[in-house]
Amino acid sequence: MSLDSEQLKDGKSCLLIIDMQYDFINGSLKVNGGEEIVPVISDFLKKNGNQFDLIVFTKDDHPSNHISFASSHKDKKPFEEYAYVSEKDPNHTFKSCLWPDHCVVGTHGNEIHSDLTKLIDNGKINNTKTLVVGKGMDPKREYYSCFNDVLEEHNTDILDVLKKENISNVFVCGLAYDYCVLNSAKSSKKFGFNTYVIDNMTRKIDPNWEFNEPGIEKIQM
Ligand SMILES: [Zn+2]
Repeated sequence: MSLDSEQLKDGKSCLLIIDMQYDFINGSLKVNGGEEIVPVISDFLKKNGNQFDLIVFTKDDHPSNHISFASSHKDKKPFEEYAYVSEKDPNHTFKSCLWPDHCVVGTHGNEIHSDLTKLIDNGKINNTKTLVVGKGMDPKREYYSCFNDVLEEHNTDILDVLKKENISNVFVCGLAYDYCVLNSAKSSKKFGFNTYVIDNMTRKIDPNWEFNEPGIEKIQM
């Protein structure tokens, strides 16, 4: 599908491609349907990459003892509930669940799918500058949003990058819809960007979850 949406006409636009890594596509934390969006995103980049001012790939970059892994806790299993607690304020918590080990730096599962990375030529796709942003390197902090950790106490440098590039519009796709795509889109909106999720270029973990975020438009591209 060609991109002729009104959104791209006003201001600069960034495409955020979240965590298209092998562990989420067909590895230890495989998201249903993740494999089928690889060619969709790849075709989209080939046809429309040049319509964006910046393309950012994000990555989960975990050490092998990451706090989000069930294996890092005694007697815990993947998908069991877990509450992240702030070191500064024990009343500040974020409830989520633990995961199987995934996206450990240096493993194949950590790599972004080669059908996407092979499109990058000299740091560019279709003449648009690309960037790779890692998250979750600190063993003690979990990140869903690519802007900040789940307790909103630590930031990546993506906000500075988007501001420096004068980005107004942020389009989010990738994996997984109900975790890192959702939370990255929520941060993007919170930081004042016109934010869109590209519904046909993302897949969710929880089959019963539906996207419903006021102020964030769900679009097809
Ligand atoms: Zn992770």
